[in-house]
This record gives sequence, structure tokens and C-alpha cells, in this order.
Amino acid sequence: MTETAAAPAQRAHRSAKRYIYSFGGGRAEGDATMRDALGGKGAGLAEMTNAGLPVPPGFTITTEACNDYFAAGEKLPAGLWEDVLEAVREVERVTGKGFGDAANPLLVSVRSGAKFSMPGMMDTVLNLGLNEQTLHGLIDLTGNERFGWDAYRRFIQMFGRIVLGVNGHRFDEALDGAKEKRGAKQDTDLDAAAMRELVDEFRRIVREDTGGDFPTDPDEQLGLAIKAVFGSWFGKRARDYRDYNKIAHDLGTAVNVVTMVFGNMGDDSGTGVAFTRDPNTGQKVLFGEYLTNAQGEDVVAGIRTPLHISEMRQQMPGIYAQFEQIAGRLERHYRDMQDLEFTIERGTLYMLQTRSGKRTATAAVRIAADMVEEGIISEREALARIEPAHVDQLLRDQFDQRAREKATRITAGLNASPGAAVGKAVFNADRAFDMAGQGEKVILVRIETSPDDFHGMAAAQGVLTARGGATSHAAVVARQIGKPCVAGCASLVIDYGKRSARVNGLGFSEGEWISLDGTTGEVFVGALPTVEVRFEDQAELQKILEWADRARRLQIWTNADKPEEAALARRYGAQGIGLCRTEHMFREGERLEIVRDAILVAFQATRAKERRAAGEALSGEDEAAVRRFDEAMAKLEKLQTGDFEGIFEAMDGLPVVVRLIDPPLHEFLPNHAELLVEVTRMAALGTSEDDEHFASSRELLRAVEALREQNPMLGLRGCRLGLMIPDFVKMQTRAILNAAIARKRAGGDPHAEIMIPLVGHVNELAQTRRILDAEAERVVQAAGQDVDYKFGTMIEVPRGALTADEIAEHAEFFSFGTNDLTQMAFGYSRDDAEGGFLLKYIETGVLADNPFQTLDVDGVGQLVRTAVEKGRAARPNLKLGICGEHGGDPASIAFFDEVGLDYVSCSPYRVPVARLAAAQAALTGAAERDK
Ligand code: ADP
Ligand code: MG
Ligand code: MG
Repeated sequence: MTETAAAPAQRAHRSAKRYIYSFGGGRAEGDATMRDALGGKGAGLAEMTNAGLPVPPGFTITTEACNDYFAAGEKLPAGLWEDVLEAVREVERVTGKGFGDAANPLLVSVRSGAKFSMPGMMDTVLNLGLNEQTLHGLIDLTGNERFGWDAYRRFIQMFGRIVLGVNGHRFDEALDGAKEKRGAKQDTDLDAAAMRELVDEFRRIVREDTGGDFPTDPDEQLGLAIKAVFGSWFGKRARDYRDYNKIAHDLGTAVNVVTMVFGNMGDDSGTGVAFTRDPNTGQKVLFGEYLTNAQGEDVVAGIRTPLHISEMRQQMPGIYAQFEQIAGRLERHYRDMQDLEFTIERGTLYMLQTRSGKRTATAAVRIAADMVEEGIISEREALARIEPAHVDQLLRDQFDQRAREKATRITAGLNASPGAAVGKAVFNADRAFDMAGQGEKVILVRIETSPDDFHGMAAAQGVLTARGGATSHAAVVARQIGKPCVAGCASLVIDYGKRSARVNGLGFSEGEWISLDGTTGEVFVGALPTVEVRFEDQAELQKILEWADRARRLQIWTNADKPEEAALARRYGAQGIGLCRTEHMFREGERLEIVRDAILVAFQATRAKERRAAGEALSGEDEAAVRRFDEAMAKLEKLQTGDFEGIFEAMDGLPVVVRLIDPPLHEFLPNHAELLVEVTRMAALGTSEDDEHFASSRELLRAVEALREQNPMLGLRGCRLGLMIPDFVKMQTRAILNAAIARKRAGGDPHAEIMIPLVGHVNELAQTRRILDAEAERVVQAAGQDVDYKFGTMIEVPRGALTADEIAEHAEFFSFGTNDLTQMAFGYSRDDAEGGFLLKYIETGVLADNPFQTLDVDGVGQLVRTAVEKGRAARPNLKLGICGEHGGDPASIAFFDEVGLDYVSCSPYRVPVARLAAAQAALTGAAERDK
């Protein structure tokens, strides 16, 4: 459509910069590419105008003007006001109306519009330019007195609340009072006289509240409204929203001044919103709502119940056909599902907004897949359209079907945002936020939500409202942040005072558990159990992920400690195990006792064995320790061999990286303080020295005290432990290789890769390797069966990263342990940091993100990059991966792709997300390189 676009006219301007772009009469100075300057709304209005669509004339003041306004201490930059007035003159010329002209008045709306559509910004002011004189002009022109007074009272109400800061409730109360007095049910039942009285009442309220008269000069009204839009950029709601969505605070908002068209001029007029496809399911049908004889936000505000857009086909067939045609055109032009706003003024359709529509995960995937099918977008574009978070949402739990059938269903509303949510009912956003902060699961229950409730919605598991439709604030925001939402449960009577909700004799109060099904719109009492969704059943998602597999370069592996996890990850598309943590196997059931037994005598037995090897005779006590240690290790070896067989079987044909024991030993022993109390208590009670429990507790306490460290995280763990007690390394090597041999004999294809953690100095690795290779040799000899294995190391100590060339001489692969690497690079202990100062750091902007969630590219990333370069220089075929939690984080994946790792390894549930993120990284990477 840009082919009809006019080149931006070099309109004269007083201000130093070009701050204003006009549109109208079939030509616009801006276009769709100018979202940075014009905001999304302004760019859309310009583009639609250029495309010849019916858009009321107007102009956009740029985001730069907003930024300059704040830079100048909240003053309009010099010349801007003159330029605004000039732009108004231009709109007057195009429309043939006059701003403030009593005979033929031009009225405008003043609308905010940032680059990214943002709830939390200033509400739109409609009908600006009205005063007693222009009102009478309007009435004379339309011959409709009621319409005129209704427009005026709306203007005072909106301007009063939004620009002058009058408490909106006061206007609502006055309106309700007027309706009551006249026995009117709806606003539309109030006649001209009633509206006229309301205008007086509203003006009185403004005077009382602000101490001044409602401004009557249209220029003054416009100036105040523009400043209010700018000011809203740094309002609390807007700032909170940007923080949550990681939108920069320096983008600024544009202001759109648009000629008013009126949907409230009678039954041949109306207003509505529509999506070009169903934003819940993705189905290809026009989806939306409209109201006849209504203006602006009436549809969304739930003042009257809107009609489904399909009814427009009967009510206004001509308009419907035109709208359907425009919707299709806009969708094909933007090559994406659009969210449209329109108004019909006496049988003429006007388009007021177009933007890419927000959608659920289900819809995102379906629309992307369908649009490829329809030839609208390519597979690559489809991949770019789906957010990794969408994939995550699609794999979220649903309610257990049996439990649902038995559950008590209180009510049902609109299925506004899908998914299952369980939590305690809370009726206030602040309290929901606080309770969630204390680790409680909550569901925010409101009559309706407003941008002030955002923090509570974000903290809640789900949102339930009594009022509002598919396009209400609650519905739109919930879909966007991926929270289940049931909206518009009209039968639900919510009492904020009593903190309770009732319906047909059923109900719940604050703190009681409820369950929401945002996919069906149902609400249940109690906490329903949830079940996993089946990945296999999601044909469209599978299709998209197959495209992703073709587009990505990075392999996706998984972190799995058990055969079931490995099997799950494999179904999700994992191509190997990047981290199998053997010590997780140590903690299960009877094993912990065996592990403790080994630990208690590990040092004594190891020293005794060294003495024996040097030809010394051992004391009886030492002999006993060696025996006890070897027995425990033999039991462990048998168990571990079985575990590894299971994992190799589940990952048959694919690599399995097994990490040798990593954590400090005290993690397998009881808590020191508790044990000390216990032993002290038994001693104080005069327990006999021979008491078995007392004896074993004292032995345990001695071991715990011997192993106590000031900084266990930096203490005896990882490869250090293996060098102190080589039997750990040997036993695990035997278990891994014998498991592989058993699999081979059973006709399997195991690929063992043995990984040494926490290497900081090359000698640590070299010595460990000597122990390990010798043991492996013995295993092969004993079995009479050859078995391949790879030997490698984790890079998670900064010194290891910096000396990666030396380390690579002894390692066939590196796996970046970015959790420890982040801890040690920042010098943070993760548990202490996340439980303490880190949140504050992020809040106050010391850090942009939690570095344990998203890799710190500037710091930790340098270590990774250095290790990659040095490692590959020393050993060109060195295999590189990452197994920290960052392996499942899309932003970090982009970095790992860029530095050229071979794979990322993440938890099984993140594998599908990582497949998409890796494809997106590859596609953006390719696009960058093409530039
Ligand atoms: P939002 O950013 O919240 O969508 P808009 O600026 O789009 O706010 O305005 C909200 C609604 O106000 C629009 O959908 C439309 O119904 C109405 N509106 C805005 N400008 C005009 C106008 N010039 N004429 C008629 N209605 C308008
Ligand atoms: Mg809008
Ligand atoms: Mg580690």
C-alpha cells in the first residue's frame, strides 16, 4: 500500500525539529516504517491513510517531542505549539470545519500512542474543542440536541478525569444519580434535558475539585491534553508496565490528534473493535464486538453488553462487507493478524486504529502455521512470529478431567485467556502482590480490572472478573502476560468490603482456594489437580518446531538425571543429555544411608589405602574403615551402573554427558546444628555410651564437623573431591563404562561422555584423567569388551575459562557451567543473592536482569567467548556446549548461538522452547550478517 504514499512533505515548521506528521485526504506524511517516531498508532493511521482507507484526518506529534518536553523540564519545545496550531489549520482545510468555530465546529480526539502498545498510558480524550458555542453549532448541524449534550458531558467527564485529575467516581455517581432519578436503565435512555443537567453537574464537580472553571477555549483544551499525554509517559502505571515488559523508558510517547467521528448519532451509527482472526484459538474468522449508537470506549467499558461482530452482517450488511474487505486487506498488507478499531457515523465507516493483535499461545501457533499454508508468510517469518514464551504456555498443565467432573463449578464466564490456574482468592491487587511475594498462590478477583491492577495481575496465577468482555482490560492484559483469565462472570456478586464473592448460594471469601479454567471459562471451588498436556497431540506446534529444527544451527540437549526425564526430553526433541548429575541419584531412598556410610570413613580409608600401597601395615581400625568404605562403594557402584544403563537405553544412539560427583559432601549429611542439639540432648539425659543411636549420632557429628567449611561453594567439591578421594572417580568410571558395555552387549548404542566439574587449573584435569583412564583400561580388560567414551570438563571457574587453551589439551569437550561461572564471575553466592540484594539491584536498575536467568553477556559472556576461542585454537574439533540454566533462556541462547557453541542443554520442559529460540537466533544472526 505504500505505493500510493506521498513523500513526506517538507512542511514549514517553527520548531528546530520536525515534530509533526499529518494525515488526511488520502495522503499521510508518515508511514508504517515510522513507528519509532510516530508510535504504533500514529504509524498505523498514516499507513491506512496512504492505503486509501477511510481515516479521519489528523496529525501525530512525535515521540521525540515527548522526550524533548521532559528534557526541557516539562515544557513544550520552542515552536512546537505554533506548529501544532498550524497542523490544526491544515486539518481544518481538509475537513472544511473550524476548531472553535461555532457554525461548523471541528472536534478532535487526543490519543497517546507509544512505539509498543501500552496499557497504562493516558486514556483517550474524545470530543475536544467543545464549549457552549461549538456545542450549539454541533446541535444545529446534526439537528440532534441529545447527541450534542451527550458529547459535551462525555468530554467534560473524560477531560476532567484524565487531564484535570478529577476523581472519576464523582462523575459516575452523578450519572447514576441522573439515571435513577429518571428510572433510566442505560445511558442511552437519558434524554437531552437530562444530559444538559448532567453537564451543569459535571462542571460543578470540576469547579469543586480543581478550584477552577472547566476550560472553554479549544486551544487551551488542546494544549493541556497534549501535555497530559506527555506526562502520562512517566506515570506510575506506565512505568510499571515498562519495567515488567522490559521496554526502555526513553522511547517517549507520540500524541495523535484526530478529527472526531461520531458513533453515537443514532442507530445507523456505532463503534467497535475486531480482530482479523480469533485471538484465542487462531481460527480464521472476524472476531470482535460492536455497539450501535455508542462512542469510543463504550464497547470495552462494559457500559452496555456489546454485540458480536457477526450480528453486524444482519444489522448493517453494507458496512459489514466493507469492513470485512478492509480487514482482509490490512491483514494481507501487514501480513499479520490485526486488531482494528472502527466507528460508523451515520452509515459511513471510519477506521481508527490497526495494529498487530495480541493473541494467546494457541492462536499464535495456529495463525503462524495457517499463514504459511495460505502463502501469506514464509516458514521463517512464522518462526519469528511465535514467542518462545508461547511454546512454554502451550505445554502448561491443564485440570485433571476426572477431578473437573467431580468438582463444584461455581460459575462460568468468558474464556478470556487459556490455561489452568489454582490459587487463593484475593480481591485487591496490592494484597495479591504482597501475598504472592510471600510465596502464596493467589487468584486476583475483581469486578473489573484497570491498569492500576497490573502488578496484582502479574503476581497472580490467574484473574477472574465479573464484568467486561473479550476485549476488556483484564482479558487483554492476561492474554499478553500469559495468565489464565475468566472475565465477565456476570452472575458473580463481588463484595470488596466483605472480601467475598457469591453466586446462587455458592461462593468464596478471601484466602479460599479456587480454580479457574481460562480455556473453558469455568470457575471451581477448591484447588483442582492439574495434569500435563501431551506434546504429541499438538500438531501445529510440532510442525512449527520442525521448521525450527531446519532453521537452527545449535543442537538442543537436555539436563536429565533419570531415565524418565531423558525419555520425556527425547520426545520433546532433545538430541543428547548435556548434564546427568550423578549425585542426584545418591539422594534417593536407601542410597543416602550408603552414601553417608562411605563419607564417614572416606578420608580414613583413603589414607589407609595410600599407606598400604606404600608397603605399610594397617591397624585393625584402618582395616575396618577400608572394608566399610569399599563395601559402601560397591553397593553404590551397583546402583549407579543400573541407573546409567537406564539412561543409556533411553538415549540410545545419542550422547550422554555424565558429570562426576560435584557437590560438597556435607550436602549428604544431616544439618550440623540439628545434630549438635540431638547429641547434646542425649548426653544431658545421661544416655549410655553404648546406646547405638547415641554412638552413631556422635560419629555422624564428628564427620559433619570435620567436613564443615566456611564457604562450601568454594570448598572441597567437584574435581577437588575426586583428587582427594580417587575412589569416587574410579567407582563412577566403572559404573558408567560397565553400564555402556552392558548396553552394547544388549545390542544398544551408548555414547558415554565423562565430564569433570569445577576445573580451574589444567593439572586438576590432567591428574583426574590419569586416574580415570587407568580405571577405564581395567574395566575394558576385565570385560573383554572395548567401549568408547569421551572425556571432557566443565568450564565454570573463571580461571578455567581464561586458561581454556591449556585445558583443551586434555579435554575433548567443554560444557559451560554458567550457574557457577556467574556466581564466581560476579562474586555472588546465588542463594544469598537471589534471597537478598539481587531483587533490589534489579528494581533500582543496578542490574538490568537477573544474571542467573539471563546470561550477563558483557561479563560472564566474555569468559565464555575467551574459552571458546582459546579452546578451539588448541583443539579445533573441541565440542562445546552449555548446561547451566541459561541453556533454556531465549536471550542467552541467542548469545550461545553467536559465539558458536555446538549445543545448549536445558531442562526437559524447556527443550521445545529452546528449539524455537535457537531457530530465531540463527535467523536473526543470518539477517545481521546479510546487512
Ligand atoms: P487506546 O490506545 O486505548 O486503544 P484510542 O486512542 O485508540 O485508545 O481510543 C480509544 C477509542 O476511542 C477508539 O477505539 C475509538 O473508539 C475512540 N476514538 C478515538 N479517536 C476517535 C475519533 N477521532 N473519533 C471517534 N472515536 C475515536
Ligand atoms: Mg485504540
Ligand atoms: Mg557447577
